[in-house]
Amino acid sequence: MLVIDTSFPARGFNERGDEPVRQVVLHYTAAPFAPSLRVLTQEGVSAHYLLPDPDESSYRAAGYDELRVFRLVDEGKRAWHAGVSHWRGRENLNSRSIGIEIVNLARDDKGVFTFPTFADEQISVLIALLRDILGRNPQIGPTDILGHSDVAYGRKSDPGPRLPWRGLHEAGVGAWFDEASRAMYQRRFCLGLPPEVEVERAFQRYGYAPAKNRQAFEQRTRAFQMHFRARDYCGFLDAETCAILYALNEKYQGL
Ligand SMILES: [Zn+2]
Repeated sequence: MLVIDTSFPARGFNERGDEPVRQVVLHYTAAPFAPSLRVLTQEGVSAHYLLPDPDESSYRAAGYDELRVFRLVDEGKRAWHAGVSHWRGRENLNSRSIGIEIVNLARDDKGVFTFPTFADEQISVLIALLRDILGRNPQIGPTDILGHSDVAYGRKSDPGPRLPWRGLHEAGVGAWFDEASRAMYQRRFCLGLPPEVEVERAFQRYGYAPAKNRQAFEQRTRAFQMHFRARDYCGFLDAETCAILYALNEKYQGL
């Protein structure tokens, strides 16, 4: 059940222009509901939607008895949520993406991350919201439902490895690989990974920004792993990670 609350509009955001929405970018707030709502409506950054955590105390204290989604910025307007970003050969996703902020108290202690799980109810509501968005925007494909870390891997770790991307896919939103294809590629790559220049091309073919150096290559691998191989996201390119990437390209990019 999707309840959209429009009582806290963020102000001062421009019309998007003629370009249709191409991507949906998921974020976590790394802060409770109350301060997130304040920041996202009053400080010049925003997202189209804020999805609270039903168990988090500042949401309960605000007096809501069910989990609702707050629409802060109209979908026809541009919200400042993606920052410097890249997907599928294009920069700056703010002009053509919908941003969803999910309340989650993730922490970053000088690069050491703590990623709490999302509430089951948050995920159900997220799926309902994404289905609603996709129903109105059929041009958004499975590979265009992304994490902030996918489109800004050098700077961002949200929504983190606890976002159940596979469950989202099974509910009809977003991409996931076919297991048989992954296994076939993995048997091949166990004998030796493809040359790095080919892996680089494969990441770009899927949509990721080019990696300019070794550090960027590892950051991008980590972002990819947080999305598709969350059990281990250390950023080291292994046979399984490579196999998942190739299986995804086979399924979605026709290669
Ligand atoms: Zn973010």
